[in-house]
Amino acid sequence: MKKIMRINLSESKVKVEDMPKEYQGLGGRGLTSHIIAREVPPKADPLGPENKLVFAAGILGGTTVPSCGRLSVGAKSPLTNTIKEANSGGAAAQKIARLGLQAVVFEGRAKELMSLKIDKNGATFIPASSFKGLGNYELIERMKKEYGRNISSISIGPAGELKLKAASVTVTTPDFHIRVAARGGLGAVMGSKNLKAIIIDDAGSDKVEVKDKAKFREATKTFSNTLLSHPITGLFKDFGTPALVMMINSLGCLPTKNYSIGQFEGVENISAEYMVDLLKKRPNGQPTHRCMDGCITHCSNIYTDENGEMIVSGLEYETIGLVGSNCMIGDLDIIAHINRVCNDVGVDTMDIGGALGVAMEAGLLAWGDGKAALGFVKEIGKATDRGMMIGNGCRFTGEKLGVKRIPQVKGQCLSAYDPRGLKGAGVTFATSPMGADHTAGLLLPNPANPAYNHVAATGQGPMSQSVQLHIAAIDSLGLCMMVGLPLWEIGAQACINSCVSALTGESVDENYLVNLGTSVLKAERKFNQAVGFTEKDDRLPRFFVEEKLPPSGNVFDVPEEEIDSVNKF
Ligand code: SF4
Repeated sequence: MKKIMRINLSESKVKVEDMPKEYQGLGGRGLTSHIIAREVPPKADPLGPENKLVFAAGILGGTTVPSCGRLSVGAKSPLTNTIKEANSGGAAAQKIARLGLQAVVFEGRAKELMSLKIDKNGATFIPASSFKGLGNYELIERMKKEYGRNISSISIGPAGELKLKAASVTVTTPDFHIRVAARGGLGAVMGSKNLKAIIIDDAGSDKVEVKDKAKFREATKTFSNTLLSHPITGLFKDFGTPALVMMINSLGCLPTKNYSIGQFEGVENISAEYMVDLLKKRPNGQPTHRCMDGCITHCSNIYTDENGEMIVSGLEYETIGLVGSNCMIGDLDIIAHINRVCNDVGVDTMDIGGALGVAMEAGLLAWGDGKAALGFVKEIGKATDRGMMIGNGCRFTGEKLGVKRIPQVKGQCLSAYDPRGLKGAGVTFATSPMGADHTAGLLLPNPANPAYNHVAATGQGPMSQSVQLHIAAIDSLGLCMMVGLPLWEIGAQACINSCVSALTGESVDENYLVNLGTSVLKAERKFNQAVGFTEKDDRLPRFFVEEKLPPSGNVFDVPEEEIDSVNKF
């Protein structure tokens, strides 16, 4: 049985325990959310010592199932004040699982800046004063040099140390690129605990025990083949997530000029097609890249400059939508450079894109002025007043500047889909316990389900509920959303159940995923209710309801009763 490692930072103590009964059968988001819901007082200060920070591998973590190595990071969020889980690719979760751990829980607060190394011998505290103020790129280079190439690291940049509400948690890939648990300000929670980095080395550790190896091999093969049969998987394999740029623009839902238009004039220059051509020509550019071993979709990329210097990996759709079209910046190089600064300082590109958008609406900088935006983002690491403002995210910036149209729910900036034309996604943004986020359950029109009408005002509630339950389970298994969502769209949940059953040696019935997702969402919602959230908080900003979105003229008109039906299960 996997174990839980508890690190008491206040007392510099480490304890490894068997999974308590109440957490057995859980992993990933299911485990982080159940731990936070049981062990953190709902009214706790997210940046105080009562909050806990949990890193969990998924139920399938450490195995050979494709893309099963997502790392769930959970805490009470300083951005949304809700329970929060953000997950990331990279190599850390696979290593945690192979060390026999299901989760590492940080409690209390260290007296001074610390790092922690976890390996087969346990955990070691390492003073981190020499890492103070370092950006993630230099920090990772130093850790790689000091601890070797078998590690994966989890770290924060200066934004986390400054406890900014949009601060992210960085995780390294097997080839030491950066992946990010971006949402909800969990980097600030890590900073509040005086924890700069976690170094994980699984050398000499046992592999994850698979109970029925033959059945598991067969189940994994079926899983891969089923995933590859989805028509969209091929598109992401060739073009990565930026394939969504032209698709969402053609639907009239690409956030443009702070969500005031649904199509962007300069869209071709920020499209996947343009980017793939560019990266094929540039030295060391890679239009596709995998963020973890075993991924067969490899939706990421390595974006280089004309001299072959890596700018960022990967440049994703959400960043292009929020930093690009949303700010009317039509230059991929500038967007990539802004992305790099965000990764280095350790902030969420989505909330920063949203913050830049509202700052442009307030007249602080001109629409489309990429150079000014880059300079603005660089101020986060310098802790200027303006830098601290946008480092605290979209809502903070909008409120500070007196902007009325702030694209956020529960304090978190919307992902890059205008909900007036993608109404199911809008219902998920409104009702997710985590604040607005596509990773909570994205609904897009897709060839596998031609009957789904993304602009209809009704029918969105049941669809959003179904996909949110599914994704809560997928996050608990440690599976990547790029894998979990296509399998839900084609109704192929059985191939996931077979993998779990072969791994655990226990029978798994057809309701396994729905039951798992229900338990997770119920725990999250109960915590939020105890904080003080009600159905009134499950609403999109009024401008989405009142302002017609050009060019379609759509408004978000899903009835409130239908929105509220999502959380009745
Ligand atoms: S599909 Fe993309 S995000 Fe998912 S594991 Fe592969 S590279 Fe990472």
